[in-house]
Amino acid sequence: MRVKLRNPDRVEELAGSRTVAELLDELDLNPSTVLVIAGGELVTAGTALDDDAEVEIRPVISGGAGGPRCVVCRQPAVIEEPRHRSAWCGPHFVDHVQGQIRKAIDQRLDGQRMFSYEDRILVAVSGGKDSIALWDALIDLGYRVDGLYVGLGIGGYSSRSQVICEEFAARRAEPRGLRLHVVDLAEEYGYSTPSGSTATGRAPCGVCGLSKRYVFNRVAVDHGYDVMVTGHNLDDEAATLLGNVIRWQDDFLSRQRPVLPATGPNQVRKVKPLYRLSEREMAAYCVVRGIDYVVEECPLVDGNTGQELKEALNLLERTSPGIKAQFLFGFLDRHADTFAAERPGGDGATVELRACDDCGMPTVGDVCAFCRQRDRILAVLP
Ligand code: SF4
Ligand SMILES: [Zn+2]
Ligand SMILES: [Zn+2]
Repeated sequence: MRVKLRNPDRVEELAGSRTVAELLDELDLNPSTVLVIAGGELVTAGTALDDDAEVEIRPVISGGAGGPRCVVCRQPAVIEEPRHRSAWCGPHFVDHVQGQIRKAIDQRLDGQRMFSYEDRILVAVSGGKDSIALWDALIDLGYRVDGLYVGLGIGGYSSRSQVICEEFAARRAEPRGLRLHVVDLAEEYGYSTPSGSTATGRAPCGVCGLSKRYVFNRVAVDHGYDVMVTGHNLDDEAATLLGNVIRWQDDFLSRQRPVLPATGPNQVRKVKPLYRLSEREMAAYCVVRGIDYVVEECPLVDGNTGQELKEALNLLERTSPGIKAQFLFGFLDRHADTFAAERPGGDGATVELRACDDCGMPTVGDVCAFCRQRDRILAVLP
């Protein structure tokens, strides 16, 4: 059989037939971190693969689990999720994912829902599986939601990501109409992620993260959106939590919540409706729905410690399915309020924010962190 592997792209030719589980074992791959696609369909652990099968093994970490049946209709399942001790056929898996998103939106953290049908919503899309799947699900659930793509200038990776976002937006524009905002960092602000990193000596992800957070809020404010939505999933949030706990970063812990209310002028509420869903579930959602997404990783991801934290959690998840969700949900249910109460101004509502002298966006000092970073970069760049 011909097995196509990703990140890095390579092909393995293997003689003889075997099951999906045997194949993953042979390749020393953790089943909870990949999807196995054969003949264009998702396949589960017990599926037999013929000697002449064409198989793709797709990693689901950004930055296929014999014969299971759908828990709803008893048809053959396309995906198993040990964490839920469940398996689903394609259509019921889509229901499961959208149901988890609805649950996240409707729960009343801090007394209010993430957003309502009246709100104008802006989703940050990168071209990766999470954000594109989220946009798709929110449209299906009936929300008014536009997209925002930020061009980071990371070579072919950025241009391919932009095309994916534009094609998705064009496909879903009918019948209700939706808009994709595109902001190119270099055109708008004079630097790209790589040039900004070189100019300041900061890690690319540091420059990139600050720039993205700024542009997300700025576009949401400038265009009058009520809420900014990002595609952070359970794996992202659990890894961030682990990193914050390991270093006991109380300030970051106080902000680690699926809903961050606006605490000053020129700031919109930020929410993360995918925090109940894993990377693997989001990648499978895209495959089942036929949604194209960028499978390749950002080439600059290597310096990102989040990846190692994800790998550590996946190692634990392999032997204890559900431990990642227990870790994150336990924190959110029982301890998040403790940290939020400890930061200046209690729940953050009274933290003194003022308008940046340069750009007018909210900041605690005179000039916001984005403007300071940009000044440092532009002082060095030709
Ligand atoms: S991996 Fe780092 S540099 Fe690449 S898009 Fe993500 S934050 Fe930006
Ligand atoms: Zn079913
Ligand atoms: Zn500013």
